Amino acid sequence: MKSSNAVIYARVSSKEQERERYSIDAQMKYLRQYATDNSLNVVREFQEAESAKIAGRAKFNKMLEFIQANPDVKYLLCEKTDRLSRNFKDIATIDSLVQNQGLTILLVKENSEISKDSKSHENFMFGIKALMAKNYSDNLSEEVIKGMREKASQGRYPGGSIPYGYLIDKNVGEILPDPERAHLVVELFELYAANKMSLRALAGWARTKSMTTPRSGKPITISQIDRMLKNPFYYGDFRWAGELFRGIHKPIVTRKLFDAVQQAFRVHHKPQFNRRSFAFGNLLVCAKCGCKITAEIKKGKYVYYHCTGMRGGCDLVYVREADLIDQYSELLGPLVLTEDKARMIMSQISKRRSGDVKKIASERLRLNTRIGLLSKWTEQAYIDKLEGTIGKEQWQSLTSLWETERSQLSEQLRILNQENQNIVPAAQRILELSQKLPALWDSKNSFEKRRLVDLLYSNSTLDGANLYATYNKPFSFIAEGTQTQKWRG
Ligand SMILES: [Zn+2]
Repeated sequence: MKSSNAVIYARVSSKEQERERYSIDAQMKYLRQYATDNSLNVVREFQEAESAKIAGRAKFNKMLEFIQANPDVKYLLCEKTDRLSRNFKDIATIDSLVQNQGLTILLVKENSEISKDSKSHENFMFGIKALMAKNYSDNLSEEVIKGMREKASQGRYPGGSIPYGYLIDKNVGEILPDPERAHLVVELFELYAANKMSLRALAGWARTKSMTTPRSGKPITISQIDRMLKNPFYYGDFRWAGELFRGIHKPIVTRKLFDAVQQAFRVHHKPQFNRRSFAFGNLLVCAKCGCKITAEIKKGKYVYYHCTGMRGGCDLVYVREADLIDQYSELLGPLVLTEDKARMIMSQISKRRSGDVKKIASERLRLNTRIGLLSKWTEQAYIDKLEGTIGKEQWQSLTSLWETERSQLSEQLRILNQENQNIVPAAQRILELSQKLPALWDSKNSFEKRRLVDLLYSNSTLDGANLYATYNKPFSFIAEGTQTQKWRG
């Protein structure tokens, strides 16, 4: 590396700040040192401290702008992938800087670099790390491969948001009635079943009881109450992926009361809230006018998708859900790997990982040695204090300094170990997925297919009856590899 211009990007999450175990200073120190060691000329530093309230990426966007405006910046230094990216869109923007502006990303702690010349499998790993940063890989393993259907059929709610009146006991991972809120749910059901109050009046009543959504803290709305009163979760079942499952969680209301409420709905006739959900709803955009694509049922059973035509001037083409599914399934083609190819990619990844092992081991040794030293100093200082060699104040300031450093190093060690355990299995899972994708796709109902669509594709648009979508990373790298035969060592 010659003396090239570089920028540094450091970020700490609000969680890390809370724990105060990992300061942004430690990151900066590390990255600056790396730049010095590699004769990089740091022209700008960007530090991001996310607050709990605003998950801001202000500095991140500033950095992207800066790099765009200064093409002589050739390197971006960052600690690890998950500092850099939180979502696919970030990765796509960074990727375009890499491809079009010749930027090289140095992920210092991961000992990897992403550049235009990176091999496909390196890009693939970058994509996987980005996926892991989003906690998506957990969903991937559980939801797609092991099958959430199995979890659901065992009566365990597969996830998504927990209905009002319940909470999750984190110790046992169980969903339990919230002792402070469950009785309010019962009252809502009783009031509506007794036919004495409209939904609007119930919303007013809920406000007097300070019923607010736990997440946003806002008062519960009419449509939320409507949904609650129709949610079978409260009597012990649950809906998932378009089906009803028998739950093992504790009911809040009796089946009898629930049925009485449904009867009251029939009497009231409130169809405006009775919106049916569609598998591919809220997903597609019209290529011609940019409006949302909406769905409706024809002849009582066929689901059709079409442009809302809100802006006018758009021929409303009706596309059957089955056609949409066919087109998505055609797009799967380039994502499907043969067993041989998957094995080859895996061996490239393993080869590269074994090269890393030495570096990781030496990093681990460095951290452990330093931690050991700090402990020893702390012990010695205590003895010195007892013997009166140093004063109490001096002893306090020294030990608190060492303790801070020690906990920072422990955190680094923990992250180092954790990432090493997870990255290869995650790559393995994605490669497995890409081998059985067609069979998996065929075995799923349309709601489950939608989940796969969210995992694999972005920017779904309908141009007339034709579907277009882009591949999410790391799947885009698989597609690129299978289409260009780029998967080489
Ligand atoms: Zn349109």
